[in-house]
Amino acid sequence: MNQAKLHATIFTLFPEMFPGTLGTAIHGRALANKIWNYNIVNLRDFSNRHDGRVDDRPYGGGAGMVIRPDVIDDALTQHVPASAPETASLPTIIYFSASGTQFNAEMAQTYAQYQHLYLIAGRYEGIDQRVIEKWQMREICIGPYVLSGGELPVQVFLDAVLRFVPDVLGNPESLDEESFSDNFTGEYPHYTRPQIWQNRAVPDVLVNGNHQKITEWRKNNSKK
Ligand code: SAM
Repeated sequence: MNQAKLHATIFTLFPEMFPGTLGTAIHGRALANKIWNYNIVNLRDFSNRHDGRVDDRPYGGGAGMVIRPDVIDDALTQHVPASAPETASLPTIIYFSASGTQFNAEMAQTYAQYQHLYLIAGRYEGIDQRVIEKWQMREICIGPYVLSGGELPVQVFLDAVLRFVPDVLGNPESLDEESFSDNFTGEYPHYTRPQIWQNRAVPDVLVNGNHQKITEWRKNNSKK
């Protein structure tokens, strides 16, 4: 049986937002080929209230609502095995939060080594702090701005992580030349056919086949 190299369990109030962008192109193909896989846990199923609500007013007052700790706790208890297998020392339960640690390429590479990730998308003002502490969640921010929910952050995170999962990218060498990789010397301008487009020509050095000169040119024209 083909065993997925990475499985993501995604906790959300909006299951219809998945796989979203991850269902197309490179990641969509890898999903169809079972290189990675995911399942959705609808937090609404853990409401335990007749009106289906999962949120409540914040203690101390203030705008907005907070997702109750019991909702998240019940969902995690049902879906996270007592001893989740880990290949690195970081916890595998991630809560996406605008006040979390800023996500970067190094973290993406690290999380690509995990077999199973548990990803929580928040809504409203976020989730109760006590459940974050109880489950020792890792809080990750995808950028210095506030979005309406954690579903896009989950997809941004998985997109970046999956690029490091073996067999997801057709040509793994392309990772070495990318921005933020260890071997990255700077992103240089890219050109393709036609050689002259709207009176703008591709720099001569790139069409002459002298690889040393091309490397030199790319280094000198790096955008870093
Ligand atoms: N009260 C929060 C604050 O000021 O930081 C904003 C909550 S936001 C409206 C609702 C949810 O979106 C959060 O619980 C989180 O899951 C997600 N979210 C918003 N911006 C994010 C970001 N930059 N990175 C990761 N998650 C984010």
